[in-house]
Amino acid sequence: MAWRFALVIDPAAAGDARTDFGDTFTPIDVAAPALSVGEMSTQRGDGIFESIGVVDRHAQEVGPHLDRLAHSARLCDLPAPHLEQWRQAVAIAAEHCPPEGEAVIKLILSRGVEHGPTPTAWVTAAEAPDNSAVRDRGIRVVTLDRGYGIDTPARAPWLLLGAKTLSYAVNMAAIREAKRRGADDAVFISSDGFVLEAPTASLILRIDGRFVTPAPNGGILHGTTQLSLFAHLEEGGSETAYETIPVTDLEKADAAWLVSSVRLAAPIRAVDGRELAVDAELTASFNRYLLTPRD
Ligand code: PLP
Repeated sequence: MAWRFALVIDPAAAGDARTDFGDTFTPIDVAAPALSVGEMSTQRGDGIFESIGVVDRHAQEVGPHLDRLAHSARLCDLPAPHLEQWRQAVAIAAEHCPPEGEAVIKLILSRGVEHGPTPTAWVTAAEAPDNSAVRDRGIRVVTLDRGYGIDTPARAPWLLLGAKTLSYAVNMAAIREAKRRGADDAVFISSDGFVLEAPTASLILRIDGRFVTPAPNGGILHGTTQLSLFAHLEEGGSETAYETIPVTDLEKADAAWLVSSVRLAAPIRAVDGRELAVDAELTASFNRYLLTPRD
């Protein structure tokens, strides 16, 4: 039986000066019902989340994930999360992970129960899926129109395009469509022809020896894995850049990856049926780096 752990958080105000938040956490029985009827996260997907990779009990990049949780909360008009409180909740969840191997910690901040006084918040930990095959063999992707222009996020911020909201039904539908087309995953394209991101990962292309990723102001999530990998590449002397990338540039890439916190770096083997070489050695070095403890 796969192991799981969960605790509910009584969210503290962002300005709370306490240093120990232990009494605001309630571990819960993962097999028992835990959410109230009327919970907005389940009724409307009205909330935000983060998925943090865990390696040998070390939660990776907790600071960047908490910063993005706070960013998503701002975009969604949710109360600012108390970052130290969430950090302590993550630490408890990490302690409940096995001493060896990969796990995933999820942070959820929901608008709460309809007409209720506060948001609802909880943290879970569970075994990570086995991603060794996608890291080694790679994945086939198809491009899918997201239906928004590259300037839509600036014109229509209420679409919450840069927030990691709980409303992932569209992202999951895109992956199903990619599978119907014989691929493993999708890469979203803006309606005016720019490359964006995958439904659950960031895209990195290598073009003329430079590592390029779509600029986050185009309505995509700023991935913590891409950020960390770019810092690592820059340290090693490689050139990196955020750019507005036309879809025609996909053909210029001599290697490409989808990267995210739990899957880590998955090399792309084909785009819309066109084969792409996998740089197996570089991919292995990316994943070795991503599996080392990172803060
Ligand atoms: N883009 C989307 C839409 C995602 O859902 C994710 C992760 O789930 C990412 C990018 C990658 O983000 P991270 O590297 O922080 O996991």
